[in-house]
Amino acid sequence: MTALTCRYDWTLPEVQALFDLPIMELLYQAHTVHQQMFDPNEIQFSSLMSIKTGGCPEDCGYCPQSSHHGTDLERERLVELQRVVSEAQAAKDRGATRFCMGAAWKNPNARDFPLVLDMVRSVKDLGLECCVTLGSLDEDQTRALKDAGLDYHNHNLDTSREHYEKIITTRKFQDRLDTLEKVRDAGINVCCGGILGLGEGESDRSSLLMNWPICLNTPAACPSICW
Ligand code: SF4
Repeated sequence: MTALTCRYDWTLPEVQALFDLPIMELLYQAHTVHQQMFDPNEIQFSSLMSIKTGGCPEDCGYCPQSSHHGTDLERERLVELQRVVSEAQAAKDRGATRFCMGAAWKNPNARDFPLVLDMVRSVKDLGLECCVTLGSLDEDQTRALKDAGLDYHNHNLDTSREHYEKIITTRKFQDRLDTLEKVRDAGINVCCGGILGLGEGESDRSSLLMNWPICLNTPAACPSICW
């Protein structure tokens, strides 16, 4: 079996050629790569908790937590640390080895951020891997999260650069790449995916895939399948 090397220089025609493959051939190639890069029968159990729900200032067109959309979801404050510890312990007891926490905001504010750091430390103290999704981050915040022991930061690319403004107007595609770069530079693993079915065309999916590898720091950085 030929050893795989990881490429970060895919061109659009090359990605489009993958879409043109017959589905069974594509499945075969994908499975072959998966077998070479991972234990094919190993699955990681992760548990996700919303630590701050609703009232988000972003206008992601697919999200009921956005304050721009008329949903019935009530805006909540950041949950208390003890609730996080209880949920993380329960997740561990059920077999999870990673605990993920998501907050519905554009970026962490000065009041809540130290509390999130306490949550990360508490999850790590339980012997779990820790992942958060906190929106945009600056360098000080990524460094503080790394120091607190954070393993992964989830930050999805949503859709293609070309289709982005049709789905989200409160930030730019480049903002996502910029935060991902800061996360990677701080030594935190990147967890990143995209969303299909947002009215995008096949060329948008190719474009998204082409940008996707540059958000990762190592070939095996994200064992989760976020698609
Ligand atoms: S940033 Fe997250 S929580 Fe906020 S609207 Fe977008 S998807 Fe929803």
